[in-house]
Amino acid sequence: MLIVSLSCFYIHKNIQTTISGDIMFTEVIDMSNQTNRQSEIECRSNVDGEESLTEEKWQAILNNDASYEGRFFYAVKTTGIFCRPSCKSRPPKKENIAIFQTAEHARSAHFRPCKRCKPTGQRLPDDEWITLVTDYIDINYMESLTLNQLADICHGSSYHLHRTFRKVKGMTPVDYIQQTRIDHAKALLIQSKKAISEIGECVGLSNTPYFITLFKKRTGYTPASFRQMKIHNIQEDNNNEE
Ligand SMILES: [Zn+2]
Repeated sequence: MLIVSLSCFYIHKNIQTTISGDIMFTEVIDMSNQTNRQSEIECRSNVDGEESLTEEKWQAILNNDASYEGRFFYAVKTTGIFCRPSCKSRPPKKENIAIFQTAEHARSAHFRPCKRCKPTGQRLPDDEWITLVTDYIDINYMESLTLNQLADICHGSSYHLHRTFRKVKGMTPVDYIQQTRIDHAKALLIQSKKAISEIGECVGLSNTPYFITLFKKRTGYTPASFRQMKIHNIQEDNNNEE
């Protein structure tokens, strides 16, 4: 189900870029990362060493059963992380799981080892972990995302996530989430005719007064004045070209 909504989301984004036409060039959001990830995710089906999720394996995952150690590894398609069956991390949704014979198979299908259960026996480098976190935010920014939820999803403690994120990215996870949301809101303000409240909802900020306050704090404009200014600039540019 989640996979389906993920692909719908990608399609939705692609439509946004194409219908925007020339306006898109005035406010560029880098879509290339997302496209790469899309093909990465698509490549994840039918890969070497992938096995089916039997009820037995599912129970082993739910019960963190250490007796299944080394018999299989499970990966979570929504986060890009793979784990040992015994991992104490929150169990994922059944439909998002891919099963692999070995850690190498999961690795070659572009999944990254969990920081908590270390399925390759090695520590996941900080920058790889943070890439995984930013990838997750880039795709799920419109959902509710607190630091605790994010830490839980990405298999680490919130304290550790906050500290490591700041070290690697030079900003906090919350800053990154806000920046991502505001960047997408800017694009929607220019490219669509959606109401301000609707744009807030589209980027995970359904509380409209909060959306307006945050937008102003980060850009210096209210969403409405930003839209007006950008559209005015585009019209001026068009007039100058004529
Ligand atoms: Zn794990």
